[in-house]
Amino acid sequence: MLHTPHLPAPRPRAHSRRRLRAAALLASAVSVCMVAASAPPTPLGVGDRLYPHLGNPGYDVAAYDLAFTYSGSNSEPLEAVTTIDARATADLDRINLDFAHGKVDSVEVDGEPADFAPAGEDLVVTPQDALDEGERMRITVRHSSDPVYAEDRPGGWVRTTDGLAMANQADVAHLVFPCNDHPSDKARFTFHVTAPNGLTAVANGLPTGVERAGGSTTWTYRTQHPMATELAQVSIGRSTVLHRTGPHGLPVRDVVPTEHRAALEPWLEKTPEQIAWMEKKAGRYPFETYGLLMADATTGFELETQTLTLFERELFTEPAYPKWYVESIMVHELAHQWFGNSVTPATWSDLWLNEGHATWYEALYAEETADRPMAERMKAAYGASDRWREAGGPPAAPKPPKSGSKTGIFRANVYDGSALVLYALRQEIGRTAFEGLERAWTATHRDGTATTADFVRLASETAGRDLGGFFQAWLYGEKTPSMPGHPDWTPVAEKEPVKASRKPQGE
Ligand SMILES: [Zn+2]
Repeated sequence: MLHTPHLPAPRPRAHSRRRLRAAALLASAVSVCMVAASAPPTPLGVGDRLYPHLGNPGYDVAAYDLAFTYSGSNSEPLEAVTTIDARATADLDRINLDFAHGKVDSVEVDGEPADFAPAGEDLVVTPQDALDEGERMRITVRHSSDPVYAEDRPGGWVRTTDGLAMANQADVAHLVFPCNDHPSDKARFTFHVTAPNGLTAVANGLPTGVERAGGSTTWTYRTQHPMATELAQVSIGRSTVLHRTGPHGLPVRDVVPTEHRAALEPWLEKTPEQIAWMEKKAGRYPFETYGLLMADATTGFELETQTLTLFERELFTEPAYPKWYVESIMVHELAHQWFGNSVTPATWSDLWLNEGHATWYEALYAEETADRPMAERMKAAYGASDRWREAGGPPAAPKPPKSGSKTGIFRANVYDGSALVLYALRQEIGRTAFEGLERAWTATHRDGTATTADFVRLASETAGRDLGGFFQAWLYGEKTPSMPGHPDWTPVAEKEPVKASRKPQGE
């Protein structure tokens, strides 16, 4: 994700289960069930330091099949069926899913009706028969998915002028569909989107079919690589889908509001060369397709949804944004396909691995193509780094998000504050080792999840020496260590805010 500064231009406010092994167990099993049924359902989590309620223990999702039916109005709930194929990693009497903000009509486990109850932001499912560790299960939830949210808890659907898009990062996929809403549990996705004729639906991955029936059309998309729930994308709108070819035949697909197609083309045609540039830095592009989704909405951010990045259309049609800046933002989101999407953070405290790298390539592209030196940007970041650490915590131990805050954990400490860590690393181990590390990282952890400790280990291996102390100071220190090769760089105090000389009375 990247928050983009809004210019002061006028913008409209858019806005088989544990089978009872023997009949002899039946009596005791029944009494266990009765005890379980009387205990209140409890929300669970996987213990993420920043979002303790996210994810659930006891199972691993292999695949999601999401079916949405859109009425044509983005202020009405969509009808939805979410099917989850998972494997129990523990004996389970109950299965907690993350789901809030939708009405649940029914839940089945392996085709049999199951009990369900909300608890916090969880949907607690009690199958008729408990599940054994290692057993596979299919959970089917019929529910609504409501794109209208309360101001203090915006969800994953983004309402555009002509339909919907999705922005689930970091903790709101479960306000769209029931899931194990944590990046540590990646899975394959299939999407079926039914919408009135005249609208176009696009989702992550590649299309596998389009079926027209009467007044509506069903579009099906499937991902070829595992994906985190936070990176799901479904776009519905009056869109045109544009196709071009990237390096070594990669299908490049953009989704644009039909009326802005011509104005957006000069930007869209830059993608293939940006992919080629990134491949030189980070290795082969990790997915089956890439492209930009240009949404007609005021979100205040861009989001690297897997294979199809969400952008605000105005970033490209508002002439006040400099060309180099827009291009560097395009590269930021593209870089996330390697850093964040293919290699996913194991916990949200590892977010610096996403945003630090995306910011790094954003700045490197600006240096190499627009003559904006990396060292100048990093010197400025160095000046502010102590203040960022104080405000948001050190890069790899961010402070928890404040409730109701739109920024959440996406603060300067994980952007330029973390690109600064990578700059320090390159200064410390040299350009050749650094560039080798970057390619080794994306290759080693492709389609997986990885931790900060994994990065530290691989960096040490690549450099041929223990970098544990170096990273401890740079990633977890309250104060920014001195910059290797730039002993003259110093923290800079924040300028005093200019006081209004004549404040109106009573304000
Ligand atoms: Zn980002």
